[in-house]
Amino acid sequence: MIRHHLSDALLMAYSAGQLPEAFSLVVATHVSLCDECRARMESFDAVGGALLEQDAGQAAPDAIAVDDASLAATMARIRAAGPVRRQAPPRRRQGLFPTPLVEYVGGDVDAVRWRAVGGGVRQAILPTARDASARLLFIPAGAAVPDHGHRGTELTLVLQGAFRDEFDRFGPGDVEIATEADEHMPVAEEGPDCICLAATDAPLRFSSFLPRLLQPFLRI
Ligand code: ZN
Ligand code: ZN
Repeated sequence: MIRHHLSDALLMAYSAGQLPEAFSLVVATHVSLCDECRARMESFDAVGGALLEQDAGQAAPDAIAVDDASLAATMARIRAAGPVRRQAPPRRRQGLFPTPLVEYVGGDVDAVRWRAVGGGVRQAILPTARDASARLLFIPAGAAVPDHGHRGTELTLVLQGAFRDEFDRFGPGDVEIATEADEHMPVAEEGPDCICLAATDAPLRFSSFLPRLLQPFLRI
C-alpha cells in the first residue's frame, strides 16, 4: 500500500523528458510499482502528445483547445527541446528490483556491488549522467543514515523494509521528496533491512564533521 507518491511536477517533467537521468530512474521505478502515478503520467503523456500533433499539423489558432495557454506553450517548448526518454511498459518481476532498475544494475539485488559507508550502511552508485546521481542504499534494520540536509532535491524510493524520519514513515514503494529546506535522519525500522533507491541533484550537506570530510570520497 503506497502512501507517498511522486508530485505532478516530477511526473510532468519526466513525461517531457526534462529530468536528469538519475531522477528519471527513480520516477520510472516508482511508476512501475504504482498504478496511481502511472495513470497520472499517462495523462501528462496524452497532453504532450496532443500538443505535438497540433504543432505538426500547423493547427489554426482557433483550433487550439487547451485551457491553460501558457502551460500548453511550455509543454510544447520542452517537448520540442529534446527526445523523450521512454521506458519499456511496466512489468512486475519475481525479484526485488523493478525492470527499470534491473537494467541499471545489470541484475537484481544479488548483483549489486555494495560499498560500506559506515554504521553498517552500504551504498552502490549507479551509472548515470553527472547532473544528478543515483545510488542504492542498504540500511540495516534499526540503523540510521547520518543526519543531513540537501543542497538540491533528493528522491528516495523504498524497495524493501521501511524507514522513518522527522517527517513520516516510508514503506515499500513510497517516495520521499526532500528539498533544500529539509534536514532529516532516516532510521530503518526493525524487520527486513531497508533497501532504497535515492537520487540527488546536488551533494548532500552532512551536519556532522566526519561524514562531511568523507563526502568527496563517497560522492554522497
Ligand atoms: Zn505513486
Ligand atoms: Zn536526505
